[in-house]
Amino acid sequence: MSFSGEVKRELADIVPEGRHCQIAELAAIYALAGDRMGEFADDMLANAGEIPILRTENAILQRKFFTLYEKAFMMGEVGNSRRQMSAGGSVAEAFFRAVRHPMLLKRECCRRSFLRGAFLAAGSISDPKKHYHYEIVCPDGGTAARVREVLTGFGLDAKTVRRKQSEVVYLKEGDQIVYAVGEMGASKALLELENVRIYHELRGMVNRQVNCDVANARKSAEMSARQVKDIEFIREHMGLSGLPVSLQDMARVRLEYPDATLQELGDLLEPKIGKSGVNHRLRRLGEIAADLRKKEEKEAPGDREEVT
Ligand SMILES: [Zn+2]
Repeated sequence: MSFSGEVKRELADIVPEGRHCQIAELAAIYALAGDRMGEFADDMLANAGEIPILRTENAILQRKFFTLYEKAFMMGEVGNSRRQMSAGGSVAEAFFRAVRHPMLLKRECCRRSFLRGAFLAAGSISDPKKHYHYEIVCPDGGTAARVREVLTGFGLDAKTVRRKQSEVVYLKEGDQIVYAVGEMGASKALLELENVRIYHELRGMVNRQVNCDVANARKSAEMSARQVKDIEFIREHMGLSGLPVSLQDMARVRLEYPDATLQELGDLLEPKIGKSGVNHRLRRLGEIAADLRKKEEKEAPGDREEVT
């Protein structure tokens, strides 16, 4: 099953306790899948009390709508059926009044329920292992604006794009999608999403670390090669014995251990010295080699060409 399917299956099993939330979720399903209800409105008004059929292939959505409708409008409270309570008007009229109520999305719990209904009816989410995308396909601009408002109300950066005859509200950022899935109440999917994200983050971190290590190793190797060349130059042109003892020792261990780190070189010296001390002595050797090269060139400007 797709990740989207998993999320929907989980959302289908969530039936909110509060009637306000049940109505909010119904309102979302009606707004986003109402066009699939055929003569829904007429049927309902004609047969007060009948549960409308949502003509959709989506059995999960159909069942959810049925369950919510039944709970919110058909079930009795202390023996009194809501049908009787809404005497003077049919259940269908009560339904339409309720889903169009201006206070429908006043509470946060209801906005969560609305989002859940909207996603069940027309939402999808990509497999987080591949990329991050969450969308709800709305039939018109008004519905899209409402869905977007609910998402932005949760602090999410929802955007809208026109696609064929629909207005699509979507989220692109991984952390925002995780948040939206959490607000809808899909805690299992949320866990899976977070695991994937943690995995991605860890992998990114490991890759960065490895790249960094490789770069550092290359830099050290280049530096060591240059130091060895300088020392060899000094040995050939003035002899290491002409150096102060501390630099002689330094030159000897560098030549002997070209792969050693500065710290390791320091440990090889007698007495041991720290990294910065090693660095300082190697730099000094580099300067001596540079001076020697300059002197060579001045004394015998043509030599180099003749030799090479
Ligand atoms: Zn509520």
